[in-house]
Amino acid sequence: MSISSQIGSTMQRSSWIRRMFDQGIELKQKYGETNVFDFTLGNPSMEPPREFKEALIAAATDPRPGLHRYMPNAGLPEVRSAIAESVSREHGIHLTARHVVMTTGAACALNVALKALLDSGDEVITLAPYFVEYLFYVPNHGGVNRIAETRSDFGLDLEAIAEALGPRTKALILNSPNNPTGVIYPEEDLKRLNDLLAGHERNTGRPVYVIHDDPYRRLIYDGHKEASSLKIFDHGIFCTSHAKDISIPGERIGYLAVRPDAADADALMDACAFTIRVLGFVNAPALMQRVVAGIQHVTVDVEVYRRKRDLLLDALLEIGYRCVRPQGAFYLFPESPIPDDVAFTRSLMEHRVMAVPGSGFGRQGHFRLAYCVEDSTIQGSLAGFKAAFDQAQRLTQS
Ligand code: PLP
Repeated sequence: MSISSQIGSTMQRSSWIRRMFDQGIELKQKYGETNVFDFTLGNPSMEPPREFKEALIAAATDPRPGLHRYMPNAGLPEVRSAIAESVSREHGIHLTARHVVMTTGAACALNVALKALLDSGDEVITLAPYFVEYLFYVPNHGGVNRIAETRSDFGLDLEAIAEALGPRTKALILNSPNNPTGVIYPEEDLKRLNDLLAGHERNTGRPVYVIHDDPYRRLIYDGHKEASSLKIFDHGIFCTSHAKDISIPGERIGYLAVRPDAADADALMDACAFTIRVLGFVNAPALMQRVVAGIQHVTVDVEVYRRKRDLLLDALLEIGYRCVRPQGAFYLFPESPIPDDVAFTRSLMEHRVMAVPGSGFGRQGHFRLAYCVEDSTIQGSLAGFKAAFDQAQRLTQS
C-alpha cells in the first residue's frame, strides 16, 4: 500500500464512526432530510451575529494596501495586541502580543502547541471522555497518549491523573466546557490539579504544561462561571477559536495564549511561531484576524442553545434516560439504557435518530448528542428516543 501504514491503521480504527455517518446519509436519502434526526455533528445551527458581518464587510473593503500579504507567522501585531488585551481582561493576568499566536482554529492551536513541546516519547495526559482528535494530535508530534478517566459525573479524578503522571509527562489537555459531556470543572478542582502538577514538578524537575482547549468558553448556562486557567495553572497554555462563540467554524480562526511566567515561555512563543509555519499553516487567515480583533466582546445568543439543551434534556429525562446536566457547550452525554452503546445507537438509528456512541469518546455505556440543531429536529426525534428506550427496557427485562 502506498499510504502510510500508520495512517492506514488509524483510519481503519476510526472507520466505524465514518460508517455511521455513511448510514446516516443513506437514511436521509431514503426518508428525506427532515425525517432523519441527526445529532452527530457539533456544527453550530446559529448564524454569526450581525457584528461579525459588519466587521467582515469593513475588513473586506478596507482600502489600505498590503492587507492580504504574508505577515509574521504568529499573526498581525495589532491583532495579537487586541487579543492579548481581551485575554488579560478575561483571565485577570497581564499578557502582551508576545504571548499570543493567531491560529487557524483551536485544532491548529493544539497542534502548534504540541509540536512546540513534544520530543519523541513524551507523554500527554488526556481525560476521558475526550474529544477524539486529541488521540491523533498527540502522535502527530511523536507524543504518547496517557488516558486518565474522569469520575462518573465527569468531574476531575485527581487520583487517576496522579497515576497517569510519569517521568515523561510533558502536558495535560483539559477541555472545559467539555465535549462530549458539557461539564465545566470547578475552580477548586483546577487549583487542586495545579497543586498536584506542582508537586510532580518538584519531584521530577519537569514542568507539566496544561493545555486548556476552550472553544466553548462563552457557551455557558445557568450563571455558571468558568475559572481562568491561565491564572490557575503555573504552566498554562490557552487554546481557543471563534468556531462556536461567533458561529464561524468554517472560517478557521482562533489563537493560543501562554501564561507569561510559564516555564520557558519566551522560547515556547518562538517555537509556536515556528511550528505554525512548518506545520504548513504559515499564519492564520489575514482577513479573519482583522475581523475578530474588533469583536472580541461579541457572542451568539447563548440563550438559544440553553433553550435547546432544556428542550432535549427535559424530554429525555421524562422518557427515563439518565444524563448529567451540562453546564456549557452544546452536547448531552446520556447513559445508554443498555451497556452496549454501539448497539443502542444502532437501535436509535432504526428510529431515524442519529447519535455517536460514547465508545468513540473513550467512555462506553453513553452516547453523545450535539443539540446545536433546529428545534424541529429535537421535537421530531422524541418519538424515536422513546421507542428506542422502551425497546431497550424490554430487552433488559427479558
Ligand atoms: N476542541 C474541541 C473540544 C472541539 O469540540 C473542537 C471542535 O468541535 C475543536 C477543538 C476544534 O475547534 P476548531 O474548529 O476551532 O479547530
